[in-house]
Amino acid sequence: MLDLRSDTVTQPTAAMREAMAAAPVGDDVFGDDPTINALQQRVAEMTGKEAALIASSGTQTNLLALLSHCQRGEEYLVGQEYHTYRYEAGGAAVLGGIVPQPFEIESDGTLDLQAVEKRIKPDDPHFPITRLLALENTHTGKVMPQDFIAQARQFVDKHGLKLHLDGARIFNAVVATGRSLAELSAPFDSVSICFSKGLGTPIGSVLVGDQAFIKRAHRWRKMLGGGMRQAGIVAAAMDYALDHHVERLAEDHANALRLAQGLSKLEGLAVEPAQTNMVYVNFNSTEKAHNVSEYLRKRDIIVGRTQRLRLVTHLGIPANAIDQIVAAFAEALADES
Ligand SMILES: *Cc1c(COP(=O)(O)O)cnc(C)c1O
Repeated sequence: MLDLRSDTVTQPTAAMREAMAAAPVGDDVFGDDPTINALQQRVAEMTGKEAALIASSGTQTNLLALLSHCQRGEEYLVGQEYHTYRYEAGGAAVLGGIVPQPFEIESDGTLDLQAVEKRIKPDDPHFPITRLLALENTHTGKVMPQDFIAQARQFVDKHGLKLHLDGARIFNAVVATGRSLAELSAPFDSVSICFSKGLGTPIGSVLVGDQAFIKRAHRWRKMLGGGMRQAGIVAAAMDYALDHHVERLAEDHANALRLAQGLSKLEGLAVEPAQTNMVYVNFNSTEKAHNVSEYLRKRDIIVGRTQRLRLVTHLGIPANAIDQIVAAFAEALADES
């Protein structure tokens, strides 16, 4: 099976499972799990932050960040299509009474800071209190430009706000730019990092920030039922991924590029330039997208069914499968016409 729907479909490798099986563990709610403690310390150091906290998912680490930065009746500024606004079931509003103020996203994944500035609320009892700006890197595979991030830092400093990064795929940005994780994390007060995407673990995310912030996040995690016991088996997978699955993301990026180049030669679909490990292709109707998807599935290639279709490369898609995938698309499109 070649499953291009997402990099979340990656399976833990045999070597990763071995590392998990061998991990020393303890009760992490008591702070007793040595593998968790070591992993949290490792990620804190890699990001250049004081402290780190593991949680089950990126949705949870983002939620912990929003709850730890903002009080009830306070507001965060966010992109319409960013995960923290659109894809997390409104958790910050439901569970934290935190008000989202969304903005249209620019074509490069950034926000128009002048438009954002106009929505910062004056200190007046009519309004929620603006507290936080939340960004996302990478967004739909796009690496957020570093000069924009520097501007965003100046912007939040000017207005006394905090700055959070949903860095679900920040390692893709690290590999694509050649900048270190610490450099990409430096402008942010907090960063959420997923390990269950391109890094290939079955579960696990990390939130980083200063000591006081992580202490608040720790309490929220317990309240949300996110305290885990012998979770060192998860941390061992994450540790393994840091050792073995970061640099190889370059292969996913190269494969996405090859895939985009191959598909762009076909008629009947418009291919957007590859961005890190993602390629978006556009069909001229949803019906066509459905039919192509059905055709590919019979050939053990799994893709979504949307008219603007996202294809994601990852460690389950070897380089030598790319030509096969392009050929199957060509057949599917020929079958269609
Ligand atoms: C996947 C993802 C998350 C978190 O997702 P989980 O499935 O909860 O781990 C957050 N932000 C972005 C941009 C993502 O792609």
